[in-house]
Amino acid sequence: MYTLGFEGTAHTLGVGIVDDQGNVLSNIILTYPATEGIHPREAANHHAANMSDTISRALREADTGVDDIDVIAFSQGPGLGPALRTVATAARAMSISLGVPLVGVNHCIAHLEIGRLVTDAEDPVLLYASGGNTQVIAFSRGRYRVFGETLDIGLGNMLDKFGRAHGIPFPAGPAIEQKAKKGSKLIELPYSVKGMDVSFSGILTAALNSDEAMEDICFSLQETTFAMLTEVTERALAHTRKSEVLLGGGVVRNKRLRDMASTMARERGAETYVPDGGLCVDNGAMIAWTGYLMYQAGMEITVENSHIKPNHRTDDVEILWRN
Ligand code: AMP
Ligand code: MG
Repeated sequence: MYTLGFEGTAHTLGVGIVDDQGNVLSNIILTYPATEGIHPREAANHHAANMSDTISRALREADTGVDDIDVIAFSQGPGLGPALRTVATAARAMSISLGVPLVGVNHCIAHLEIGRLVTDAEDPVLLYASGGNTQVIAFSRGRYRVFGETLDIGLGNMLDKFGRAHGIPFPAGPAIEQKAKKGSKLIELPYSVKGMDVSFSGILTAALNSDEAMEDICFSLQETTFAMLTEVTERALAHTRKSEVLLGGGVVRNKRLRDMASTMARERGAETYVPDGGLCVDNGAMIAWTGYLMYQAGMEITVENSHIKPNHRTDDVEILWRN
């Protein structure tokens, strides 16, 4: 049994195919180059222009015909309206033309479920840090609960905004990571942990106004924001008494963030897991796998009820596929 999943919450168009044993048969990822930041309409146009070719590539790589697809899943939210709508339209069309069930998937939950599939993590606390999202999520009393999250912008978006102001091309995260390696002076930036939530816009303003050396600003940006996320993740671990940390989202490609989170976990006797490259960032395979789990739990939707959810909340979803 094969599930085809569409990802399209932001700048990435992803189409992935998984089987019912949890094998990822293909995972094609295409990213719209958001040099000036993500323009939602342009991201949607990028997805539309590349849709048919990306579906064909995913089928070819999985060595399956379109008639072998049994379930269609798509990222229903959260994300940018135009991008979500374009990808949802493709998913609906394919579901109707093949006569197969349709499932709408929460993007943040998909990051967690793919981690449970491809790593040894069973019941982790997810630290999810991407361009648009920053959340600490864990399963508790029948739901994926948000234990902490950004009150303003996603961490990746903050790094990208800082980069743009300094002529660093998008995505700025990797370049900031390289510069930070040459920095050593910790500049004081507003360490903003509010309860279990975090905020990045004040840090961005302070960093933009700093006239310290670029390397030291990058170093301090990383040290400050990564420490904030590590602190919140540690408190979520303590609160839930879980012993696994799962990392997801583009920002966790950063080695310093991985090191900080895994050092914290180790000191608490917990394990840290990171899915491999293409399964860690936004991708269609994670949507396909989560869609398959949801389908098995009877969570298919009709086309009439398949409207997109730009503000979809992680904790709105009833998790019928876990005990
Ligand atoms: P996503 O939204 O999950 O596709 O992730 C994209 C975000 O990850 C962008 O904001 C990038 O700047 C950020 N990113 C990618 N690589 C790194 C890195 N090595 N360090 C920090 N941020 C990164
Ligand atoms: Mg994501």
